[in-house]
Amino acid sequence: MTLIDGNIIDGRAVAQGVRDRVAREVAELIESGGPQPGLATILVGDDPASEIYVRNKHEKSREAGMQSFNHRLPADTPQDELAELIESLNEDDSVHGILLQLPVPDQLDSDAMVALIDPLKDVDGLTPVSAGLLALGKPVLVPCTPAGCMDLLRAADTPIEGAEAVVVGRSILVGKPMAALLLAANATVTQCHSRTRDLPAVCRRADILVAAVGSPKMITADMVREGVTVIDVGLNRTDEGLVGDVDFEAVRQKARAITPVPGGVGQMTVAMLLHNTLEAARRQAAVAGEAAKPLDRA
Ligand code: NAP
Repeated sequence: MTLIDGNIIDGRAVAQGVRDRVAREVAELIESGGPQPGLATILVGDDPASEIYVRNKHEKSREAGMQSFNHRLPADTPQDELAELIESLNEDDSVHGILLQLPVPDQLDSDAMVALIDPLKDVDGLTPVSAGLLALGKPVLVPCTPAGCMDLLRAADTPIEGAEAVVVGRSILVGKPMAALLLAANATVTQCHSRTRDLPAVCRRADILVAAVGSPKMITADMVREGVTVIDVGLNRTDEGLVGDVDFEAVRQKARAITPVPGGVGQMTVAMLLHNTLEAARRQAAVAGEAAKPLDRA
């Protein structure tokens, strides 16, 4: 159980544990003759927040013993040029994971560009193939943020099977895959969104409450029941600094366990990206091994 001060889930410690494990397993993979996992990121334009996220992904992937390739394209890059780059990375055997940093500038169709990524290299888990497999309960590479939320729930020894789980938010990036993962873990899942009637009443049913909205402190203490486990995905920049979607201090008084912002979910996203890149390298090595085997003609 990774809790501090009684009921705060220590995202930093859990993420460090994932990064340490990945680094160990990368070294073992290379030692056993496998490939050195390689992560390629594509950043279009010069959004300062995206630049920080991408830099962090590269730092952490190198610390884990991976190769990292950073492709920077100007903000006015036409779609066919971006498509060409993605297709060349699909063909590049030293690249096992491809991540298109979102959002991209308006002239680019991000859905169409993400869909070009080879599903075996889709370390963000956002291609239609990855999303479809997750919906079928046969995930390959799972979106990093919700995968990290599941690890945080487990780190807090949260009973998931049979639990009432409420996910507030239904984005492709967080809410939908989060609900699918909870369902796959046998929770009873309710998904809320901006048209949900009586959100407080629905949230009060939750044993597990995941907030992924982007609205500062919108989940208040009267919206949760005693003993709830709360995962706060929200990242909101306000005058008082970075805050989540949950009114942390008040909700904490009723929670069995709760993630802080910062120091919670945000820490896990990059850790799970490293996990996915390692997993992708293993799968590609296995596929290449199968292809190299002589056909059994008996
Ligand atoms: P998003 O695409 O904007 O989706 C927000 C969701 O919240 C939508 O489904 C929306 O419903 C719902 N919503 C909006 N207002 C609501 C309300 N009043 N009541 C109930 N639901 C409401 O956002 P996202 O990409 O999922 O991100 C959500 C938050 O997580 C943001 O703060 C983002 O910065 C943060 N985030 C953090 C990480 C991390 O690493 N920690 C990673 C990704 C995202 P409709 O569908 O009806 O519009």
